[in-house]
Amino acid sequence: MGSGQVTDWQGKNVTVAGLGVSGIPAAKVLHGLGAQVTVVNDGDDARAREQAAELEALGVTVRLGDGATLPEGTELVVTAPGWKPDKPLFTAAHEAGVPVWGDVELAWRLRELGGRKAAPWLCVTGTNGKTTTTRMLASILTAAGLRTAAVGNIGVSLLDAVLGEEPYDVLAVELSSYQLHWAPSLRAHSATVLNLAPDHLDWHGSMEAYAKDKGRVYEGNRVACVYNVADKATEDLVREADVEEGCRAIGFTLAAPAPSQLGVVDGILVDRAFVENRQQNAQELAEVSDVNPPAPHNIANALAAAALARAFGVPAKAVRDGLRAFTPDAHRIAHVADVDGVAYVDDSKATNTHAAEASLAAYESIVWIAGGLAKGATFDELVAKSAKRLRAVVLIGADRALIREALTRHAPEVPVVDLDRTDTGAMLAAVQEARRLAVEGDTVLLAPACASMDMFVNYNQRGDVFAQAVGELGT
Ligand code: ADP
Repeated sequence: MGSGQVTDWQGKNVTVAGLGVSGIPAAKVLHGLGAQVTVVNDGDDARAREQAAELEALGVTVRLGDGATLPEGTELVVTAPGWKPDKPLFTAAHEAGVPVWGDVELAWRLRELGGRKAAPWLCVTGTNGKTTTTRMLASILTAAGLRTAAVGNIGVSLLDAVLGEEPYDVLAVELSSYQLHWAPSLRAHSATVLNLAPDHLDWHGSMEAYAKDKGRVYEGNRVACVYNVADKATEDLVREADVEEGCRAIGFTLAAPAPSQLGVVDGILVDRAFVENRQQNAQELAEVSDVNPPAPHNIANALAAAALARAFGVPAKAVRDGLRAFTPDAHRIAHVADVDGVAYVDDSKATNTHAAEASLAAYESIVWIAGGLAKGATFDELVAKSAKRLRAVVLIGADRALIREALTRHAPEVPVVDLDRTDTGAMLAAVQEARRLAVEGDTVLLAPACASMDMFVNYNQRGDVFAQAVGELGT
């Protein structure tokens, strides 16, 4: 269907699936364009009723307590990204030949609404590092004097970004695998899949389906598909993608770069992709010490951000300035304090084993605080790979036995304190135990490899409680 003309929408029968952060703004925008909007929602609690009343006052129809039935006459479904593809609503839409779009697809289709000049999208996805890389990218683009914003799966919604008053030159777009699943016609200027490890498999159904959805980010790219040389699965996705003529595959690596790659030589981030005569030449971009924090996985994030920026034509100096200006979001390898020569680091955002592995690889001698909700993960590989760096381990949370068993199998000599607690106060006890076990020069690292909801509201609170406990050590 057409969608870039306001007239395309008048009287169109659209069902919005899900009240929430994407559904409510989508319903308002579509209603504003003259569509007949019905919002369907599974829940029927007080909050949903309040939201429904607000929309109904505008003239939007809302059906609470039934997100399964496709309303009669629906011509298009716009879904919240988190809704699972096997829901009956989607089966019904499929059978009726009704297209289903997510929030990203809707924003993509509306970006040129009414003849607007749309900004190109530089897209970032991957299992871990998306937010960090997208923010680094936005910082680099800003340093180059471009009008830009970090949008998508981060704070600002894409709809606001494409329909807002402010004109952008380019957007740094973070996309989750769910959002990509529902964005069939998205075509980025350039994009990256940072890495691929099993995650959200209950939603996607299989690793293949998860990888396929991530790989959509490369479809139709115009300038560059940026992949991780150390993660062959990302390169395979580039190979499978149908891209525009002339679009290049660009690798990033922590080693010295081959032609058409960005990499690291003697502590310098170098570009051997976006330079004249790349067989002989390389362009210095920044120093490793310009990356904050300079942990290996984060240098990879910086290289991916640099590759996307360079694909957009940003000068080398802006890469350096943008990386220097970047400060990581809270709870992502955040240095909290040094106490008696021991560093305390909060990586509460390491909510899966792949993230925790990257975090543990960044330090030589660690007292590791781990545990929480495992979400079906196994810990053998993580523990086996990290064993040599572990001075000791302190376990908290509901699924700590899974980690303890992996430690028994792969690191039997490492001392383990199992706190057998899931109350919020357990964190203070964990930090005190860690202090007792740590030796000068060690790092006490909160990288739980698990979700936080067994003990905390979210990973932010978990990190805050950790920092508070560290603050209490000195007193
Ligand atoms: P996302 O948005 O994908 O969740 P973040 O940038 O918020 O990613 O980082 C989440 C956590 O993932 C970090 O705290 C860190 O532990 C880990 N991480 C970040 N970048 C990488 C990477 N490139 N590879 C592996 N783990 C990473």
